[in-house]
Amino acid sequence: MTRAIQFAADQYRLPQDEVVVKSHHTDTNTGLTHVYLRQLHHGEEISNANMNVNIGPDGSILSYGSIFLNAPSGQHPITDTETSSEAELGFISAEVNPLDAVYTVLTHLGHPPKANRGGSSFLGNASTTRDRNFGNKPGSDRLAGPSPSHVFHRIPGTLGETQALRTHIISPSGDLEAVWEISVRTPNDWVNGHVSRRTGQLIALVSWKSHATYHVFPLGYGSPLAGTRSRLHDNQFEKAINETRGNNVYAQADVAGDGNWAAKKRPSGGGNRVFDFPVDLAKHPTGYQDAAVVNLFYWTNMAHDDNNFDKGGKRSDAMIAMAQSGDKTNNSSFYCPPDGVHPMMKIDPYTRTNPKRDGDFDSDLIIHEYSHGVTTRLTGGADNSNCLAVGEAKGLGEGWSDFFALLFKLKASDTRFTNYPIGAYASGSSEGIRSKLYSTSDEMNPHRYSYLNYPAWWEEHLAGEVWATMLYEVLWNVVEAAGFESNLNQVASVKGNVLMFKYILGGLKIQPCAPTFLTARDALVQAEEAIDGGKYRCAIWRGFAKRGLGTRATNALGIRINSYAVPSGCDI
Ligand SMILES: [Zn+2]
Repeated sequence: MTRAIQFAADQYRLPQDEVVVKSHHTDTNTGLTHVYLRQLHHGEEISNANMNVNIGPDGSILSYGSIFLNAPSGQHPITDTETSSEAELGFISAEVNPLDAVYTVLTHLGHPPKANRGGSSFLGNASTTRDRNFGNKPGSDRLAGPSPSHVFHRIPGTLGETQALRTHIISPSGDLEAVWEISVRTPNDWVNGHVSRRTGQLIALVSWKSHATYHVFPLGYGSPLAGTRSRLHDNQFEKAINETRGNNVYAQADVAGDGNWAAKKRPSGGGNRVFDFPVDLAKHPTGYQDAAVVNLFYWTNMAHDDNNFDKGGKRSDAMIAMAQSGDKTNNSSFYCPPDGVHPMMKIDPYTRTNPKRDGDFDSDLIIHEYSHGVTTRLTGGADNSNCLAVGEAKGLGEGWSDFFALLFKLKASDTRFTNYPIGAYASGSSEGIRSKLYSTSDEMNPHRYSYLNYPAWWEEHLAGEVWATMLYEVLWNVVEAAGFESNLNQVASVKGNVLMFKYILGGLKIQPCAPTFLTARDALVQAEEAIDGGKYRCAIWRGFAKRGLGTRATNALGIRINSYAVPSGCDI
């Protein structure tokens, strides 16, 4: 920890007390320790100044990624509206009121509070807690930030607490701007907005919601298309108490779409925990609501177990899983706030078929959404939910989610010539919901790195297809070299699909906040090096190179150039 702080301070010529550890984690698979840091300015966090330092078992620093600013005394210009003398005196009354900042964010989201703006008048029955200190426990390795905060309760049109933190943000021009960092949840979104304390302008807005608006839809192997339902005497249900509620997941239907999970009635399995409910797929989904909730509970618990060889998350915060969510159709979404707050998954009914189909029976959608939580929390550390929110990083997030859905449904009889859709059941189409099937065939799926140069491919699900296609190529190279494991939960297995799972989880922790295709590729290569010492290095590079992300691939000012080159010694 101290080593990482020292390293960051040296690199950027900062005093050590202007660097804090947001979270840290030692990975038992790779043996690497990951320390996630944030830069301070006058003792307040710079929200997007993140640095991750990867430290080897011998204490050496293997790699790091950062968007820290050099010390203000250095060459980097910093403009700041708040002089240090003002801050020291606490004389900052000229700044924008935090409630006005909340108002600005809500207005941008299309939820302007109805009452008059101005000071606290729009708050209605809201109450406030002033200047609460968050998480900065003295002597606890300086985890989390020191920013004082305002907490508002019951603001009309919001759910739960609304927080305002006094932070800074690096603007696109590289200047430092003093902001209110607002975290607010509405019925349809959950956002982290940055409003200038100087001008009141909204500078940045990140949604903690990942969603897939499925154009068509899939069928996974965990769907009615895969055959009849089996009555599972599975240990997943031993985790249920006597309803679909356990340590990891609370599952319930939300036909009203109001998100009020705590008040919903959950299906009961009785004292013997038999969760066996009838399904008649000829009916409207509400006709088999309990069975849908049980299926969702089963799959989310299974996904949780299979991610258990990763211990990235640090606090207990069960996921809220909403089946048959009534606020939308043909959609699934995942809300991922920082670790310690319940994440929420919503799965909707799908209307492309008659009768409608229930996404809760399509394991592709469930694994896809669940994986958003995994990738968001592991990238940039568990205390930062903003690292896969924009640009290529957002596309990578969609790509991993599709890839994990593929990894879960792979069978021992599959080969590199097996093609897979995503979401075939819910969509009612064997093509699934993506533009192409996942395939190692160039004719079936020609996706290349350079596709990201086209504005249409900036849409995150399309960018995600490119990434997941690359990972599918890498997967088959590794599986052909190392074999296939039928039980993905076999942590000790050295078969290719389990290794690929470990490499990806390792890479998520190695890569910087806001990764790109290039840095995510490099992190995966580093994870393999840490786990298997380069044994499958060439298998990985050949997979990426086939799709244009070879060793000489570049992205100069948004112009991506394909490379089909592999490191020397990796040519076939
Ligand atoms: Zn998604």
